[in-house]
Amino acid sequence: MPAKTRAAKTKNPVKTRKSAQPRQSATLPVWSLDDLVPAPAQKHIAKGLAAAARDAAAFRAKYENKVGRLGAEGFAAAFALYEKISETLGRYGSYVSLDRQTKLDDAAAGQLYQSVSETLNDISADMVFFRLELNRVPDTVFTKWLKHPEVARYKPVLAQMRAYRPYQLSDEVEKILHDRDVTGAGAWMRMFDETSAKLRFPFRGKTLTETEIFHQLLSDDAAVRRDAHASIGKVLKENAGTYGFILNTLAKEKEVDERQRGFKSVMASRNLDNQVEDGVVMALVDSVRASHKRLSHRYYKLKAGWMGKKQLDIWDRNAPLPFAAKRRLGWDAGCKTVLAAYGAFHPQLAAVAQKFFDGGWIDARPRAGKDSGAFSASTIPSAHPYILMNYKNGLEDVMTLAHEMGHGVHQVLAAQQGYFMADTPLTLAETASVFGEMLVFQSLLASETDPAARRALLARKVEDMLNTVVRQIAFHDFEWQFHQARKKGELTPDEIGDIWMDVMRKSLGPAFKYDENYRYFWAYISHFYHSPFYVYAYAFGDCLVNALYMAYVDSDKKGQGQAFADKYIALLAAGGTLHHRALLKPFGLDAGDPAFWRRGLSLIESFIDQLESGGKADNLATQPRKARPRKKR
Ligand SMILES: [Zn+2]
Repeated sequence: MPAKTRAAKTKNPVKTRKSAQPRQSATLPVWSLDDLVPAPAQKHIAKGLAAAARDAAAFRAKYENKVGRLGAEGFAAAFALYEKISETLGRYGSYVSLDRQTKLDDAAAGQLYQSVSETLNDISADMVFFRLELNRVPDTVFTKWLKHPEVARYKPVLAQMRAYRPYQLSDEVEKILHDRDVTGAGAWMRMFDETSAKLRFPFRGKTLTETEIFHQLLSDDAAVRRDAHASIGKVLKENAGTYGFILNTLAKEKEVDERQRGFKSVMASRNLDNQVEDGVVMALVDSVRASHKRLSHRYYKLKAGWMGKKQLDIWDRNAPLPFAAKRRLGWDAGCKTVLAAYGAFHPQLAAVAQKFFDGGWIDARPRAGKDSGAFSASTIPSAHPYILMNYKNGLEDVMTLAHEMGHGVHQVLAAQQGYFMADTPLTLAETASVFGEMLVFQSLLASETDPAARRALLARKVEDMLNTVVRQIAFHDFEWQFHQARKKGELTPDEIGDIWMDVMRKSLGPAFKYDENYRYFWAYISHFYHSPFYVYAYAFGDCLVNALYMAYVDSDKKGQGQAFADKYIALLAAGGTLHHRALLKPFGLDAGDPAFWRRGLSLIESFIDQLESGGKADNLATQPRKARPRKKR
């Protein structure tokens, strides 16, 4: 079942973590959630939830124990009603979730979130029967229903719901699991959020928030980075007991649930959700693992050389390069950059993006108690998405805006598919965001004339790609090993740290020195708590976009750039109605083909080639080099 409030989280929290700059930030936009729920919100929510409760109860009275006996037309009507009530619940769920994201230190917002979540859960309990009964409808009847155009319209979501048939438990158990959700995983995730929001990090006589301390890791001054790293390690270690307990509990709950349902592997339910075959994910994971030497190990060796070191310290991973441009872009300039790059590709992308700026759909102002990351939440098709980020005038903030705006535009274009089918499966959820980043990157590169600055941009892009592809697959490996080990029993924070250190060493390679403080850095990564096995979607998306972007460059050279851009808009507008194979077919791409992943990785490799050859970086081709046969040594 797709989540009610869907927020595509940014992959790399570090890149959006910067300290506050009060002078500028007062002019940055904050969002208005009035389009979801007008003020006074509490009053409208109470009234809206009471009406939804009546609708859900009436729905149950009308259809319970009768779904299998409905005709095609009757089923179509029931399903449309089911979608409508679900969307109403999604409206209030989205509101309280977004409201809380800017008030994580506000007990009243936390209380509103929890009480509304519990009410939503109570109301939706009245509708649980519907999916359970739908999944008991025999194929013969279901196939007949699908011949009716009103049912056929819903085929993608119905097929996805029925894919869970083999894993469905008895009605009684399903209902208990549903009721218990708010006190189970949901409550543990909330505890993670609130624990993280409350963390304070001692740093050179001051006390910093998580956002502020992570920003210090981006300092030019190695001693600042070292001290920040030590402080993060120390505070995470002090809290590792709590984090470890939350992670252990979530993993155990997942394991119990999935064992009962009969899932074969810890990743199987996520892959079913993502509509991707296990083999396709494994092909990606294997390709990335096999590329460590050619990508991350080679790049960080280069970086060590640039920084005048034999080996990098682990706190140098995201350190600015010595030749990095100190280019700053204020909010207006950042917005213009993104709009221009989007518009040059296809005017519709810019037109949709403009709505976010005009409509108050973005919250970019950093402030205390606000989530330190970035996301675009799709909310509901009858409203619009909202983007949360923390803009600090750096180039990385422009890239974050480009990324989240990609999600936002995708969500707007796909909204026409309706509440159940607007969301793209996770495998393609990062397509528009990463593609948007690529468009902005290429335009920044084109507008930069200084060779050193261009080289810095290229190196920055490579680091970003390594963070997206290599690091996220390392995260995936961490999760895989942790969940396997958890089946045998609870892990201590140190045992979790052993797994973490092992995957980090393998993925980052011998160019780094690792210290003991790094053992606890698994603790702050929210995906491990909020969406187990989500992280490969970032690598999937990045490699996919690399392949897609190369196809665009090819088309453009042949004078078919416009036709490509039109097909791309159609891909976004399809939302969740098509499988990845069908979506990529018009571009001549197939994620099931191992060569597809090698092609995506070869783009990163070609960028590193250019950096390694000390290229002037003024004729940076976007073409990948031909795959070379690997020499055996
Ligand atoms: Zn994203």
